[in-house]
Amino acid sequence: MGRAGRRFSRLVVALVSVFLAGCGAGLSAPGPSGGTVDHAAGVQVVTSITPLADLIRQVGGDRVNVTALVPPGADPHDYAPTPADVRTVSGARLFIANGLGEETYIQKLIRSGGRSDLEVVTLSDGLPVSGRGEGGEGAGNPHMWLAPTYAVHYVEKIRDALSRVDPAGAQEYRTRAQAYIGQLRELDGWIRSQIGQIPADRRTMVVFHDAWPYFCKEYGLDYMYLVSSDQAEPSPQDYANMVQTIRRRHVPAVFGEAGFNPKLVQRLAEDAGVRYVDGLLDDTVGARGAATYLEMMKFDVQTIVNALKERSTP
Ligand SMILES: [Zn+2]
Repeated sequence: MGRAGRRFSRLVVALVSVFLAGCGAGLSAPGPSGGTVDHAAGVQVVTSITPLADLIRQVGGDRVNVTALVPPGADPHDYAPTPADVRTVSGARLFIANGLGEETYIQKLIRSGGRSDLEVVTLSDGLPVSGRGEGGEGAGNPHMWLAPTYAVHYVEKIRDALSRVDPAGAQEYRTRAQAYIGQLRELDGWIRSQIGQIPADRRTMVVFHDAWPYFCKEYGLDYMYLVSSDQAEPSPQDYANMVQTIRRRHVPAVFGEAGFNPKLVQRLAEDAGVRYVDGLLDDTVGARGAATYLEMMKFDVQTIVNALKERSTP
């Protein structure tokens, strides 16, 4: 979406907000559910991005109804909520957020939906942070879910939050979370064995946007990115240093990501004389045949390992 489109979305949110305020609460927006759960409809949960929506579905099963605000393949760091998002939030029981600046719009959106009472659970709260992010000075990078060890913590928090708002489902949430955490631990072991296939001197990951610090730290990869989570581009000096580092280390490939404009990272690949590999999934599932978090991670790891195993072509 272009700048004009984004401005338009923001305008629409502002107008809907004025409309709701003018009509008084309750005319367009269903009131808070007051702790009761309509089992026919399920527990209405809102989240920001599709990887989190999948984690919530894995734990919630049929008892929950999850809506991700950011559509598959869209850039979440630049997202402006739509009038449909305002309606979704106005009818929600729970907002499960990532935090660390992944949902910069959340407070305004909740106000627009007339739901200042809406319970918000922030999955990154209390977990050790890496790097910088959008959440203010030193807040940390938001992309924790890309390390399955962090995803385990997310799943535990989702289980606890769903059990709190829907106590009748607590046993089911516990059982489902436990089974899924088993799958996450298997995934973690599989990733370690896959990364082990990359020759040690080629374990450098270069990506477009700063989504991979947790993953790279967990699996022992050196890490470089072009654009920070808060969309700061490198200075000409930093850019030149990156090109030099890629050449000096004989990094075989650099990666672009679904939902982000590939131009800058394609140019980096050209300037460094290395392969450009498109379409890693980090902030989105529902693309490239990966419908779930587990499929997303497997697709990414296979893509990374295949690209870095190969020798760079001069
Ligand atoms: Zn991101």
